Amino acid sequence: MDICSIRKDFPILNRTVNGKKLVYLDNAATTQMPSQVLYAYTQHYSLDNANVHRGIHTLSEISTAKLEDARAAAARFIGAPSPECIVFTSGTTDSVNTVVRAWAENMARGSFSIVATAMEHHSNYLPWLDLCTRRGGNFVEIPLSQDGRLDTVALGKALTPETILFAVTYVSNVTGAVNDIKGLIDLAHSRGVPVLVDAAQAAREFPIDVSELGADFLCLSAHKMLGPSGVGLLYVAKRHFEELVPCRLGGGMISDIRNGLPVYEQMPHFLEAGTPNIGGIVAFHEAIRYIESVSRGYIEERETMLTSRLREMLSQLKDVRILGLSDTGGSCVSVVSGRFHPYDAALLLDKQGVAVRSGTHCAIPCHRALGVTGSLRFSPAFYNTEDELEAAVTAFDRALSILDRAAGGKP
Ligand code: PLP
Repeated sequence: MDICSIRKDFPILNRTVNGKKLVYLDNAATTQMPSQVLYAYTQHYSLDNANVHRGIHTLSEISTAKLEDARAAAARFIGAPSPECIVFTSGTTDSVNTVVRAWAENMARGSFSIVATAMEHHSNYLPWLDLCTRRGGNFVEIPLSQDGRLDTVALGKALTPETILFAVTYVSNVTGAVNDIKGLIDLAHSRGVPVLVDAAQAAREFPIDVSELGADFLCLSAHKMLGPSGVGLLYVAKRHFEELVPCRLGGGMISDIRNGLPVYEQMPHFLEAGTPNIGGIVAFHEAIRYIESVSRGYIEERETMLTSRLREMLSQLKDVRILGLSDTGGSCVSVVSGRFHPYDAALLLDKQGVAVRSGTHCAIPCHRALGVTGSLRFSPAFYNTEDELEAAVTAFDRALSILDRAAGGKP
C-alpha cells in the first residue's frame, strides 16, 4: 500500500486552515471520507433515490437492494452470523439507547444492577445510569488504575446474579487503552451476564468478530470508520431476539394491525421504525469496502506505528504527562500539563492548521479516574504521515512556549 495514493483519496487532507496546511489529528472524534464514499453518497441521490421496503417501483427496489446489501456487508465485517442481527441506527449513541429501550427496560425487573466502567464514553454510561436511576437499579462503575487500566478484580466482584448487563468499551477514546474484550466477555458470561461492547473506537482499526467474541450487543458509528455521520449499527445476538420489545413505533416495523393490535415485523425491521438514512447507509457500505480494500491489517499496523511515534515525540516535551499506559494500541494520545489549559493549546494549534480535540472528550468519569479535569487529544488515522506528526508536535511545542511566556516566563 502506498500512502501517497491513499492520501489522494481524501480530498480534505489537501486543504488549508488559517492559512496553514491542515494537519488533521482529530480522528477519534470523526474520520475523513475518501472520494469513493463521497461518490457513493452523491451517486445514490443523483440516480437511485427512493424510499426502501415500501414501493414496488424500480428505484424503490434498487434502494432497498442497496440497503440490504449494506446490511449483509456490515454483518460480514463484524462476523455476525446473519444480516438480521444488524440494526441500522444513527450511531453508537443511538445504538446504546436502543438497547436500553428495546431490551434492558424489559429485563430490569425486581432488584437489578448494571455494570459499566470508568473508561466509558458518556454514550455508554449515561443511558445506563439513567435506567438505574429511573427503575431503582444499582449502577456500578468499575474503577481504573492510575495508568488507565480496568480493575478486573473489582469487575469480578461487581458481576452478581442481579447484574443484567455489563457495558464496556473495546478501546478508550481518552487513553487509547485496548481492553481484552474476549477475556472480559468470557468473565461476564461465566457469571451469566450479557455484554454490550462499544466498538466506536475499535471498528476502524481492529478486526471484530462478534461470533468469536460471543458479544451479546455491539455498537459502532460509521463516521469513525471513513463513513458519514448520522449512521451506525447495533448488533444483537440472536439469542436475545425473543427478549426484545418495541422501542420506536412507526412505519416499517409492523406487518399488520389485527383486532386493534400491531403484528410486529421480524428483526431487524422490528427495531427500524421510520425511513432510515438511506444515502448514509449506502455510503457506509462504501466505507466498509474501502477499509477492506486497504485492509484492516494495514490500518492497524500503520496506526500503531503512528501512535507510538507520536507518544515518543510527545514524551520528549517538558512537563507533559501522557494519560494512560506507555504503550496502549488504540489510536489516540491524550496529554495534560500545568503548562497549558487544553482549550488554549487547541486554539493555538488550530491557528497553525493542526486539528486536535480538547476537553473531556465526553468521558468525564475517565478523566476523573485519572485525576485530571480535561486533556488535549491527538488521534492519528492511517492516512496521516510521520511528517504531519512532527509538524503537530512542533506546533504544540511552539504553543507551549507562547503559553509559558504568557504565564510569566516559566518554565
Ligand atoms: N463511544 C466511544 C468510545 C466514542 O469514542 C464515541 C464518540 O466519540 C461514542 C461512543 C459516541 O459515538 P457517536 O457520537 O457517533 O454516537
